Amino acid sequence: MSQQRFADNQARPNLDDVILVAGAGGFIGGNLVRYLRSKGFTRIRAVDKKPVHDWYVRTPGVDSWCLDVSDEASCQAACRDAVEVYNLAADMGGMGFIERFRVECLRSILINTHLVEAAYRAGAQRYFFASSACVYNTDLQQDPNVRALKEADAYPAMAERGYGWEKLISEMFCQEYWHERGMKTFIARFHNVYGPFGTWDGGREKAPAAICRKVIEAIDTGSGTIPIWGDGHQTRSFMYIDDCLKGIDMIVHCDELIATPINLGSNELVTINELVDKVEKIAGVRLERSYQLDAPRGVAGRNSNNTFIKKVLGWEPNTTLDDGLAVTYAWIREQYADRKQGKKVVE
Ligand code: NAD
Repeated sequence: MSQQRFADNQARPNLDDVILVAGAGGFIGGNLVRYLRSKGFTRIRAVDKKPVHDWYVRTPGVDSWCLDVSDEASCQAACRDAVEVYNLAADMGGMGFIERFRVECLRSILINTHLVEAAYRAGAQRYFFASSACVYNTDLQQDPNVRALKEADAYPAMAERGYGWEKLISEMFCQEYWHERGMKTFIARFHNVYGPFGTWDGGREKAPAAICRKVIEAIDTGSGTIPIWGDGHQTRSFMYIDDCLKGIDMIVHCDELIATPINLGSNELVTINELVDKVEKIAGVRLERSYQLDAPRGVAGRNSNNTFIKKVLGWEPNTTLDDGLAVTYAWIREQYADRKQGKKVVE
């Protein structure tokens, strides 16, 4: 990592400034709150529409509110006095969710629309929006041997139906709040984030967590079989949560990136079969694979082109999938065991 850039300190907030994190009850928002707290921020306001006791991560010393930020008045309350605003709130999930619930995904437009306006009115200095690789033109992702997607590939636009279009138009809102109104906005296009404290069962989980859980289930039940969505040849890259948090921090404090969407993802491309191989190796098993060809599978291939992030930040997400999966697998195995004993877990 380029320490020079990171230490640049381009208008970093004071430790007693109000920082708002929306979507703080979820995976990335919850981990971001913990990250910011560990940096010493004392006035973090964390909001999520889920009741606080259901949040994936609860960090002591943080002002935690149960609040629906698709509503204008709630956004105004949430943004009061905030110096930085991080929008990690969205109704979303893995492929199974975003292919089935397009209306829910599109309705997340209300969240960013009201939050960016409220942040602007509150005089926030920096605003972050969590976008997605799903904004990229789907025509470019029909082949598993995909060429990695660079930022310019979002246009001409043919985003993922529902979820991807919501992200693309919300990006545009953020860009115009800078160009027309002068608020510094930052946009990262995440590529598949995984790690501890993410959802791992129930329909919203993504591939790494789902594969870990299925391997654990196969071992636990003795079935010896793992169901896989699609033919296993789809390719993806997966970014470990710690890289995502570091990346968000660097992006938000780099003025070269104002109103400029940037990929935040790993470029370690694997097939779903290779992902299963890795988890099996960690678990020390070999399982029979049962391919479910009618299950949701998403685009054939997707990878992150990191040329731009390396150029601007001198860094790219670099936790290997083997390392990140080992930690994630151990965490999900613990969650699985806790659930069996009737304890409350993240789902
Ligand atoms: P998540 O589902 O774990 O967290 C999202 C949180 O937003 C949830 O806790 C949910 O309750 C909350 N939320 C939804 N609607 C809300 C509302 N109206 N008001 C308040 N809170 C609301 O998802 P995540 O994985 O943490 O994703 C965070 C952000 O990153 C989302 O914008 C998502 O689209 C984006 N993203 C994530 C990934 C990934 O791989 N996890 C990839 C690309 C983009």
